[in-house]
Amino acid sequence: SYDILIVGAGHGGTQLAVNLQKLKFGGIIGVIGAEPHLPYHRPPLSKDYLSGEKDFERILLRPESFWDSEGLTLMRGRRVTAVDPAGKTVATDDGEAIGYGALVWATGGTPRLLTCAGYDLPGVHTVRTLSDINAMMGEMDRTKRVVVIGGGYIGLEAAAVLRKLERDVVLLEAQPHVLSRVAGEPLARFFEKEHRDHGVDLRTSVLVDCIEERDGRAAGVRLADGSVIEADMVIVGIGIVPEVGPLIEAGAKGGNGVVVDAFCRTSLRDIFAIGDCAAHRNIYGEDALIRLESVQNASDMAMTVARALTGNPQPYEAVPWFWSDQYDLKLQTAGLATGHDAHVLRGDPADRSFSLIYLKRGVVCALDCVNAPKDFVFGRKLVEIRVSAEPERLADTAIELKDLM
Ligand code: FAD
Repeated sequence: SYDILIVGAGHGGTQLAVNLQKLKFGGIIGVIGAEPHLPYHRPPLSKDYLSGEKDFERILLRPESFWDSEGLTLMRGRRVTAVDPAGKTVATDDGEAIGYGALVWATGGTPRLLTCAGYDLPGVHTVRTLSDINAMMGEMDRTKRVVVIGGGYIGLEAAAVLRKLERDVVLLEAQPHVLSRVAGEPLARFFEKEHRDHGVDLRTSVLVDCIEERDGRAAGVRLADGSVIEADMVIVGIGIVPEVGPLIEAGAKGGNGVVVDAFCRTSLRDIFAIGDCAAHRNIYGEDALIRLESVQNASDMAMTVARALTGNPQPYEAVPWFWSDQYDLKLQTAGLATGHDAHVLRGDPADRSFSLIYLKRGVVCALDCVNAPKDFVFGRKLVEIRVSAEPERLADTAIELKDLM
């Protein structure tokens, strides 16, 4: 039995173990994770791990020695299949029951799959785990043409790396623009142009009919209009489904994620949830439950729980932020743009360095900064202190954002 049992050894779970040690939690901590590997950084999977610039050693979240610390046990390659909140135990897929004092659910999500014929053929890949990427890299030698399905951050990053690796890339997006869930149209158009300039055949408003098969492998993608795009590999990046089954079955409130309060407590006693799987009301968002899929959210929620479990509870109030690397472009976002009623362009996209600033009733609520690290640093501050600013002044690059505070 563990004083604190953490389910999921990804960003949130690992950071929580780190924080508990930093805050001198003296009890016994167990971390149980479904993946066989030591916990690693996920963002490089679609960036410099896939491109071959970083190897596994360089993406570890903590060196192996950290996991040998006193009072800490990492159980790898095991999955929690059921939770008994009354008995305070979890069941694992190898038939064991493990007791806990407090349980922290940090399970992230699994990639959403296509639902059409051929969705599970060899040669069709998702982008979530080290194993996913290793499988993809193992097929790279025989791969010349790739179809990427989904124009979200993951699909776009994969497309950028594959161009660097000199593969032919077709990217298919069902919506009229890429990044439609997260970004304003000027940003979407900018990234569409960048990808096309780098040789990606990027097509929007296209629907996939099925994956074509040849000799038991994916050989192409058939579109709704009947045309077929030949491919040696198909990469699917169409979002994730949060891994919350066992908790919901145990009676926790939720559905698309498990519902948590400002201290990351679920509706079940002594059970917390953090990271991609936690649905919360963000103080910088609308009054609605949302899930954030970012390292920032997983890390800051991990700190919230570590504080709560060491007798110093403080609500989760961090400004959301995120980054994405594509080609030589670094995108950094701060705040939440949902519900914005105006946006301001600061700088010229043609210079490949600019920011898109979102306003809600005159208050800066979010920024997307492309190769504009200063705007990001000070813009995040503007979001945090909820600054009202004139659009003309925000757009004026002669005025530093820090002077608008
Ligand atoms: P995860 O890190 O996914 O960890 C969850 C772990 O729980 C997994 O290892 C899983 O196997 C395990 N698990 C699940 N169910 C069970 C179970 N029942 N029992 C035991 N273990 C279980 N974010 C950014 O901010 N910037 C980026 O540039 C960025 N790039 C990304 C690129 C890729 C390719 C991906 C996939 C994600 C990226 N993200 C990025 C998102 C970021 O990685 C996630 O938001 C973050 O990993 C969430 O942490 P988490 O702890 O909630 O989940």
